[in-house]
Amino acid sequence: MDRSKLYRRFRTLLIANRGEIACRVIRTARAMGLRTVAVYSEADREAMHVALADEAVLLGPARARDSYLNVERLIEAARKTGAEAVHPGYGFLSENAEFAQACFDAGLVFVGPTAEMMNAMGSKSGSKALMEKAGVPLVPGYHGEAQDEATLAKAADKIGFPILVKASAGGGGRGMRIVRSAGELAPAIVSAKREAKAAFGDDLMLIEKYVDNPRHIEVQVIGDSHGNLLSLFERECTLQRRHQKVIEEAPSPTLNAAQRETVCAAARKAAGAVNYVGAGTIEFVSDGKDVFFIEMNTRLQVEHPVTELITGIDLVEWQLRVAFGEALPLKQDEIRLNGHAVEARVYAENPTRNFMPSVGRISTWRLPAEAGGLRIDAGYREGDAVSPYYDAMLAKMIAWAPTRDVAIERLNRGLEESDVRGIVTNIPFLSALMTHPKVRTNAIDTGFIERELAVLTQAAPAPGELELCAAVAAILNDERQAAGAQASSPWQTFGWQPVGRRQRNFAFRVGHGPEQRITLNYGSGPSTLVIGERELAFTTTAKEGGFDLTLDGVKSSVAAVIDGHELYLRTRNGRFDLHWVDPFGGESEEQAGEDKIAAPLPGTVVAVLAEEGAKLEKGAPILTLEVMKMEQTLRAPFAGVLKAIRCKVGDIVQEGVELAVVEPSGE
Ligand code: ADP
Repeated sequence: MDRSKLYRRFRTLLIANRGEIACRVIRTARAMGLRTVAVYSEADREAMHVALADEAVLLGPARARDSYLNVERLIEAARKTGAEAVHPGYGFLSENAEFAQACFDAGLVFVGPTAEMMNAMGSKSGSKALMEKAGVPLVPGYHGEAQDEATLAKAADKIGFPILVKASAGGGGRGMRIVRSAGELAPAIVSAKREAKAAFGDDLMLIEKYVDNPRHIEVQVIGDSHGNLLSLFERECTLQRRHQKVIEEAPSPTLNAAQRETVCAAARKAAGAVNYVGAGTIEFVSDGKDVFFIEMNTRLQVEHPVTELITGIDLVEWQLRVAFGEALPLKQDEIRLNGHAVEARVYAENPTRNFMPSVGRISTWRLPAEAGGLRIDAGYREGDAVSPYYDAMLAKMIAWAPTRDVAIERLNRGLEESDVRGIVTNIPFLSALMTHPKVRTNAIDTGFIERELAVLTQAAPAPGELELCAAVAAILNDERQAAGAQASSPWQTFGWQPVGRRQRNFAFRVGHGPEQRITLNYGSGPSTLVIGERELAFTTTAKEGGFDLTLDGVKSSVAAVIDGHELYLRTRNGRFDLHWVDPFGGESEEQAGEDKIAAPLPGTVVAVLAEEGAKLEKGAPILTLEVMKMEQTLRAPFAGVLKAIRCKVGDIVQEGVELAVVEPSGE
């Protein structure tokens, strides 16, 4: 086909996406002088990407299928705003060949490969057949059409356990199960098929040998419509939870120069097999020595910034230039690898509760400045709502440095200086990962996070002297500021001091832990704080986001957020969540919520796994919910009897609704 029909110069770009990637694409498009059009759902009226774009079009209700996945609405939005091209970002319709074709049919430039290339690479099964022919190394496996139980069981047996059952249409780790023995195969296929059907509308399965101590290595490629195809080195994304990437880096610390050249050449061969145009990624699984092709992603990836930082190339700029019909500006031997980059994905989720997404309003959003090798690609701001409808990634923090060690240090410091409140985030977990000695020495595989979860989610240390003093100082600063807002307050008058020596008692608690007490002495003379027998002189100086606290002559910086009686502090010892025990409130121990078997988020009941009256061990599965496209199994909080099941398969349940009742078995 005449390539000018597919790729040509345009001035207005519609970004068919949301969140950080929509913001990221808008930034480069604007720098290239393009007019940008955002699209949004009813849940995203106030979203950051809408604010950033020159124009924005409402697509429809919050549910993705009514908005970001609605091809007709998107094409209509382009028509309404005079957009000439569409950038799909990642996720949503980015790898949907029908969407690419619909854009073409509507006379729009699709920033990406053609529908034919996507179809060839889109299914894991189909692409593996193609790679087999092209001589790209594959993991041993079965990727045939026949899906009956007997065929799959026979294939699994031949490959040898452990194996991986995978949805051919899969992405984001969904529809994938490790199976270690023949007996586990049938139920794994049923549940993987169910998840795949719900997430991708397609439940074709393939089976692969499960590679031992697997590492994930992938190569960035980009092709133009003139037949040029480049590889831009590799990324390693071995740190994953539930087969989903958490930390990514470039180059891979596992490969030497010769292995690097081998994997990049294999990637060029893979992309070359379909004469690929656009940015894409060839993914490999590796046992640390050899690499085996697993799939190609025919789009820009979440982790593309690490490649940008080591090559100095703006991949979105190159995507747009390819879409303009230009030739790639550099030759393969002109692509240079410089230094090392590491990225961390900041999610609204709770690592201590099986990475359950967290929804709500972001009350505090403080991230460090983009300086000293730090880059932040964010999709949210203070005051934004995180809704249960979309992926819970808030931002990416990326650090570059000449060496891997320094890049990790910079990233960790950036994470430590970040305060995001109102929702639960994985920031402390990311910090724990970046400081883990095995991550530092690259002694990891894709199962590392699951194995080390207890260490990585360790409860914060108990607050010490510094934190208790900081808590009091934070409250005093807060009261002073509140008083400052009222003109007649005595705090307003310079030098005002209550007459004589006075005392004020405070008590703080972490979770359900013991109360810790501290007394403030103030009035005439310098203020002091008393903890037990110790009396400490202290002063504070307020600054952005917190204060400097000088305790017995040692100054340290404290970040503080106060939300009613909840105090959040960051000191040199780490992060602390303190509850200020109200001296007048007569607080009772709140109901321990964790024992209730309730929907943690809105979701759909997809399986009931136990019967009423059944005796349950602690941790026994009771039912499975689909929450944000992921299956979550709710389990017995203690040994007991299942008194009641209050839902049935297919029920759509709201957050907090009680789904089952377990009565403890007394012993
Ligand atoms: P998705 O498209 O859902 O991300 P992938 O096929 O890319 O699925 O696999 C996701 C992750 O699972 C990979 O990053 C890799 O770490 C792991 N993985 C995939 N295939 C294998 C395999 N055969 N053996 C071991 N690990 C694998």
